[in-house]
Amino acid sequence: MRVLVQKFGGTSVSSAERRAQVAAKVSEAVREGYSPVVVVSAIGRSGDPYATDTFINLVNGITLESPKREMDLLMSCGEIISGVVLTSTLKSMGLEAILLTGGQAGIITNDCYGDARIIRVEPKGILDHLSEGRVVVVTGFQGVTEDGQVTTLGRGGSDTTASALGVALNAEVIDIYTDVEGIMTADPRIVEDARILDVVTYNEICHLAHQGAKVIHPRAVEIAMQRNIPIWIKCTFSDARGTLVTSIQPDMGAGTDITGDRTITGIAHTPNVTQIQVPTHDVADVLQVDKQIFKGMALADISVDFISVQPESVLYTVPDEIAEKAMKILDNLGFKPTAVPGCAKVSIVGAGIAGVPGVMANMVEALSDAGVRILQSADSHTTIWVLVNKEDMVPAVQALHKKFLLGAC
Ligand code: ADP
Ligand code: MG
Repeated sequence: MRVLVQKFGGTSVSSAERRAQVAAKVSEAVREGYSPVVVVSAIGRSGDPYATDTFINLVNGITLESPKREMDLLMSCGEIISGVVLTSTLKSMGLEAILLTGGQAGIITNDCYGDARIIRVEPKGILDHLSEGRVVVVTGFQGVTEDGQVTTLGRGGSDTTASALGVALNAEVIDIYTDVEGIMTADPRIVEDARILDVVTYNEICHLAHQGAKVIHPRAVEIAMQRNIPIWIKCTFSDARGTLVTSIQPDMGAGTDITGDRTITGIAHTPNVTQIQVPTHDVADVLQVDKQIFKGMALADISVDFISVQPESVLYTVPDEIAEKAMKILDNLGFKPTAVPGCAKVSIVGAGIAGVPGVMANMVEALSDAGVRILQSADSHTTIWVLVNKEDMVPAVQALHKKFLLGAC
């Protein structure tokens, strides 16, 4: 059996016309001799009647803190609705299809409601249906705990469902269908001449995705990478070739180390972050201070980013919506923090950055020429990040994309 996982995002299933295009992709796979497993996201985006955010808004404000277990039950409904609609569409086109929820598909997670991790997949049920010639549609973004409680996998979770199923079913390929024609050198919504990349390595897209390129969830890439299952990012609405995610570049021999990656793969951005500045120069117990701050954040389950510990102060960022909570904790610990809301993180990503001189110099030059002030910066061997004001995010991404000649020629 040649298993193919095909995942369709929210925009791909948002209208009857689009669902017909999805069904055509599934039919094509069947014609090519594949046994397709189709992972589906909820229909549409916030504001649409059956979108996940629309469900959340139904409950927001009823109690101070919404019940996590019940919220997951609610959030799992979006994929069930779109799964039923898509399965009906497939049947209407003469395909034999069956819909399974995450739990019915054997996706077992931990009990971290809202952001559960897949522990394992029990694929027997899906395999039985496939061997009987059915197309199996699986609701993305959800699973069940060992004792049967419904959980959801966090934003972008349908991508993770697709990869986990790909690995568990030993799929030949995982196709992630979305509304763009592949992985691009930057988000095409803000960079007009962003270029489609024919091939990227798992590592390259993982770094890009971690820095905000939401075309695929980084966890999904990590899972597929463990078994070296190729991922294709393709467009539901065209026959463009798409981007292949694999461990090697095509012009290298099999097994070649990926250190031969291009210098810069692309530019990513993360909007809506708050920089927190904690002055520490007048704190009595100076050796304990950093520990207190980060322990305080960890105990409250706040994951921090862009950390810079200096003798006089500690800087870090959190998502805007968590800033108030973080500030309260710091207040209670006796600190006098300042919050700088409305920041954005802009990153240049490339596995080849390490050791190439002048990348940082070019980055600073591009940003200062574009009138963008850098609030903070950091670097690793694959990424250079800068924190900028929200208004500067788009000009910064555009300037860097141009400076590093990433656009279509
Ligand atoms: P889906 O609902 O199909 O999961 P997403 O909205 O999660 O779709 O992801 C697709 C979007 O990712 C695109 O519409 C595009 O705006 C955005 N995006 C951000 N960075 C990139 C990039 N480097 N390449 C392609 N798309 C990107
Ligand atoms: Mg997505």
